[in-house]
Amino acid sequence: MRHRPLTGKVVIATHNAGKLREMQELLTPFGIEAVSAGELGLPVPDETGHMFAENAAIKAHAAAKATGLPAFSDDSGLCVHALDGAPGLFTADWAGPNRDFRAAMERVHRELEKREATDRRAHFVSALVIAWPDGHEELFEGRVFGEVVWPPRGDRGFGYDPMFQPDGFVETFGELSSEEKHGIDWSKPEPEGLSHRARAFLKLAAGCLKKASA
Ligand code: IMP
Repeated sequence: MRHRPLTGKVVIATHNAGKLREMQELLTPFGIEAVSAGELGLPVPDETGHMFAENAAIKAHAAAKATGLPAFSDDSGLCVHALDGAPGLFTADWAGPNRDFRAAMERVHRELEKREATDRRAHFVSALVIAWPDGHEELFEGRVFGEVVWPPRGDRGFGYDPMFQPDGFVETFGELSSEEKHGIDWSKPEPEGLSHRARAFLKLAAGCLKKASA
């Protein structure tokens, strides 16, 4: 499939500081000038979609329309298998209006205890969309599987990172550095990535981006 290349300036359509930092880090090798929706004072659109991809598209198209620039957005969430995929699309909402992620992680733990669930399997999903002002869009998805742990460990990262331990690691995302969480070895011809966002981003990069030095 032919993808549209992304060059020049892009709006990162998020007001979430943790996501913004990760998206900026991921874009760094590609010489893309990124400005955030928060910096531009763009409103936060209602996420009315029923899938991560739909919500990512809503955010990206709103920012592209408002600015006349291509816009890059992420919609993501944590799906806990014994909770039938919750919090899922409502991952941010479980943190309440004050975005209290300690309380959100406690809720995940409480819900698992309530169900007497021994299955701790979970995965993060990231849907990345680039939308252009002419309505064109590109969508890429990534997932990372692992387990939710209690109590949470580590104070790095953001959101639910301290309670998510990816498969193959003894550390949670909250204990890994940002580079370790991305898990991208750019010296490899086809790097794989670790986090959901990094995995989605590598697909996006393969389709739409060129290394600044290339
Ligand atoms: P939304 O995409 O704006 O609906 O929010 C997704 C929510 O999922 C964020 O507020 C985070 O709490 C959570 N989330 C998404 N990605 C990550 C991650 O990489 N680590 C921890 N939490 C995440």
